[in-house]
Amino acid sequence: MPASPLSARIQLVQGDITRQPVSAIVNAANSSLLGGGGVDGAIHRAGGPKILEECRFLRERKYPFGLPSGQAVATTGGNLPAAFVIHTAGPVWHGGNQHEAEELAACYQSCLRIATARKFESVAFPGISTGIYGYPKPAAAAVAVREVRQWLAAHEWPQTVVFVVFDDENRRLYEQELAR
Ligand code: ADP
Repeated sequence: MPASPLSARIQLVQGDITRQPVSAIVNAANSSLLGGGGVDGAIHRAGGPKILEECRFLRERKYPFGLPSGQAVATTGGNLPAAFVIHTAGPVWHGGNQHEAEELAACYQSCLRIATARKFESVAFPGISTGIYGYPKPAAAAVAVREVRQWLAAHEWPQTVVFVVFDDENRRLYEQELAR
């Protein structure tokens, strides 16, 4: 069977990532892994205490100094429609000369590496770092689309990636990037 074209494997949805019926959703977490605001808070609220329980365990056993920026780790999805959450710590924007672009690309790659290894059918990404962490949205959308395209071109799994945008600005930016 011929592989699906790349464009058919990428979707754009405007809405709440906690409602997405995918194998895994990505959490724009912070290094502490112990919850926060924004999409992190929404995921823990919707997914219930099982997710935080696993995050606490991972923090104690595997990441005593916190999850380094650019890395990712998976937990249960708790009560979410998604079976798993992939937590990644995005870079805080400090003006662009502190390896922010490399670290953001590494976040996408780390999440996709987990999805490939575990043969997740579908993964949904929020705009990592584009909220509280202040990464400029146009540049972040370009990194997100480039990294996902490159990964999907080289890997069979995940079969589908869904970009979930919250605001109109991000929707327009992703539409532009995906049309390129
Ligand atoms: P960060 O600290 O990595 O910047 P935030 O949670 O502040 O993370 O924001 C990341 C992005 O997620 C922002 O573009 C924000 O608008 C978006 N966002 C916030 N809540 C949700 C949600 N429930 N579903 C999808 N995206 C969300």
